Amino acid sequence: MTEPTRYHRQQLLAPVGPEGQAKLRRSRALLVGCGALGTVIADLMTRAGVGELVIVDRDVVELTNLQRQVLFDEADAEAGLPKAEAAAAKLRAINRDVRVRPVVADFAPANALPLAAGVDVLLDGTDNFETRYLLNDLSVKLAVPYVYGGAVATSGTLMTVLPAAADGEAPWGEPSPCLRCLFPEVPSQRGMTCDTVGVLASVSATVAAAQVTEAIKVLLGDWQAVDRRLRSFDAWANSGQAVDVSRSRSNDCACCGRRSFECLDGGAFSQTVSLCGRNAVQVKPTGGPVSVDFEQLAESLRAHGPVSVNAYTLKAVLPHAGAELRVTLFVDGRAIVQGTDDPATARAVCSKFIGL
Ligand SMILES: [Zn+2]
Repeated sequence: MTEPTRYHRQQLLAPVGPEGQAKLRRSRALLVGCGALGTVIADLMTRAGVGELVIVDRDVVELTNLQRQVLFDEADAEAGLPKAEAAAAKLRAINRDVRVRPVVADFAPANALPLAAGVDVLLDGTDNFETRYLLNDLSVKLAVPYVYGGAVATSGTLMTVLPAAADGEAPWGEPSPCLRCLFPEVPSQRGMTCDTVGVLASVSATVAAAQVTEAIKVLLGDWQAVDRRLRSFDAWANSGQAVDVSRSRSNDCACCGRRSFECLDGGAFSQTVSLCGRNAVQVKPTGGPVSVDFEQLAESLRAHGPVSVNAYTLKAVLPHAGAELRVTLFVDGRAIVQGTDDPATARAVCSKFIGL
């Protein structure tokens, strides 16, 4: 008798079995966002033995992440490592068989299509609807299932989008509504962001775990098992609902009805965005990614305040209007400005000191 493999308990499951395990091994997943949802998703997908996992995240690890972002530790926060890189290092130590591909970048119209090429499922670890709409556009355009998830305070939401096939019938049969059939415009958060009301780690972990369950059903091609309902719950109020949305697919939907991919085509995207939970603003170079010489820039910035450089980022504390702003600059010229949620202030600092 041979030794049980690491997937023994998973292969014992009737819907998986050795064949399902082999199928997982051949599959590829794209995860966008590696925070509260994304770290749990990445952890479970890696342990489950997916073939390839592409992780896209634009941010660096901070102390306030550690309450809920399970792949990170204090050393990652102290080093200010990019989340995608820090996560990849942990995941490779967990399961060397999985090809983990960290991408430290903003998931944006310019890189969305190449990053999604050949993947079997799109996983939502984001915290904003702008990026979710982009994932939704990709899902419908490429006919790849998309597992949406969100968590704030003690509430969670998730749904799986099974889009129409580009031609003929999709293997999952009848398409489901897409995210924009249900939310045509960015939903008002009514002041309910993780910035203002926080988020309970067990709630984001619950949503992420349920997303992974749906992703595994998708990767196994067990379409009958995929949950086509819009699920939401409040773990503190002990309430929840699962709404049948099967008849909510709309011919008027900009995305799946009219097949107009507004987010993917770039028109609906801004160059400057406030980041959830951070009192921070991201500034992107207007002409697209550029390459920055950290050493040279560090020299000129040291006159204004402390500067530190590693292989991925340059961090500087810069004075502005009597306050001190912390700027994290990435090699592609993207910057995160902390200490303000005002896009104009962030842009002004980047233009004055960095020339973005
Ligand atoms: Zn739609």
